Amino acid sequence: MLNVLYCMFIDTHCHLNFAAFDGKVEDIVDEAKKDGVNQIIVPGTDIPTSEKAIEIAEKHEGVYAAVGIHPHHIFEIYNKTRVSVLSTATPPLEPLAIFEKQKPSLYLKQIKDIEKLMSNPKVVAIGEVGIDRHIYQKTKYPDYKIEEEFVELQKIFLIEQIKLAHKYKKSLILHNREAKKDILEILTNSGLRITDYRSVFHCCEPDLELLNFAKENKMFIGVDGDIAYYKEKQEWIKRVPLEMLVLETDSPYLSPAREFPNVPKNIPIIAEFVAKLKGVSIEQVEKQTTENARRLFKINDK
Ligand SMILES: [Zn+2]
Ligand SMILES: [Zn+2]
Repeated sequence: MLNVLYCMFIDTHCHLNFAAFDGKVEDIVDEAKKDGVNQIIVPGTDIPTSEKAIEIAEKHEGVYAAVGIHPHHIFEIYNKTRVSVLSTATPPLEPLAIFEKQKPSLYLKQIKDIEKLMSNPKVVAIGEVGIDRHIYQKTKYPDYKIEEEFVELQKIFLIEQIKLAHKYKKSLILHNREAKKDILEILTNSGLRITDYRSVFHCCEPDLELLNFAKENKMFIGVDGDIAYYKEKQEWIKRVPLEMLVLETDSPYLSPAREFPNVPKNIPIIAEFVAKLKGVSIEQVEKQTTENARRLFKINDK
């Protein structure tokens, strides 16, 4: 417990909708509020977790939802698409032709399902969406691998979901893992960029090019509990202006003490690390990051 008087922190990225929190959400939200973390954004990673995010947000004051399909989970659609088309097409289709052919039945349906959730008043953003080239050790997909066709499908989903954010005037939570080039290419070329402080590079990799892009385009940078031990990120965060930072736990992952599950009440610990690294007071970090998060998601103090 930190020795400060908190008024208000916001956890801008917390998966209360994941199985790790089944049956415990009530207590975790209460504990977070006791420690001054009064507002929480819950991002979806597929259709069921997006629906769950809304369900949780509807039950709790100060909790908001984001809806979207995470690039990792596009693998499921990618796999289904390949199997169903490759087995019927002669001669075999090119990858993009496969997606094109499947568009009406598979991926368009997923996008439509996300769109149906957009009008809920507790939905503040599209997220988390993006590009991910990481080879996960732990994944529910036994044959998970990164093929270029898979990344192409991730790009299509990202573009379609950014379009929804524009259409419904919602904010954007971007997930990028080891795919800076791809994601910047889309944000640069597609004309879909969401600027004006309405988008965030969540759990941002310590990278100057990403920071400069965010600066130029008026985007926020999300910082997590790995700031406690990730040396490169510690150095990099010193260069990120406080006016660009939002705090997030990415619970149940990325606990500052490497425990599982991480919980939203750990936000002040992240704030304390940021304050020390930047040589400012924790109150300053609290005040500025809360103001930033409200601007990002267009939420007020209730
Ligand atoms: Zn993420
Ligand atoms: Zn996440």
